[in-house]
Amino acid sequence: MTTPAICPHCGRLMTITTISVQPSGMWDETWRCPDGRWMHTRTVPPPPGYERPTDRRQLAIPHNGPEPPDDYIDIHELARMIHRSLSWIRHQPPDAIPGRRQHCEGGRVEWNRHRVQDWIDSYTLPGTR
Ligand SMILES: [Zn+2]
Repeated sequence: MTTPAICPHCGRLMTITTISVQPSGMWDETWRCPDGRWMHTRTVPPPPGYERPTDRRQLAIPHNGPEPPDDYIDIHELARMIHRSLSWIRHQPPDAIPGRRQHCEGGRVEWNRHRVQDWIDSYTLPGTR
């Protein structure tokens, strides 16, 4: 439970105006007395049960699980995904379809599946729906 601060100026209960969470997890509370003439900041531990957002994010990722591999597709798979021919894709400018990568000049060209999917979702090519 949060103990209200007492204003050292007028002796009345103060109310919290802002809370900022430090990287350590401690809270910086800014208190203000009812007449607004006194401000007071104190650092307290977070209340029990309070879960820092960063902790939640860490919980969502398995600690010893492998990183998901980048999912890249070749031009055949791309053609299938966007319902276009290989020659149509080859005639597009390199940046026409997002997620493209090529390891070296003349090398294999691949596309990131997720970026292509996002692109399909956000922009409907004529004939793909
Ligand atoms: Zn006061």
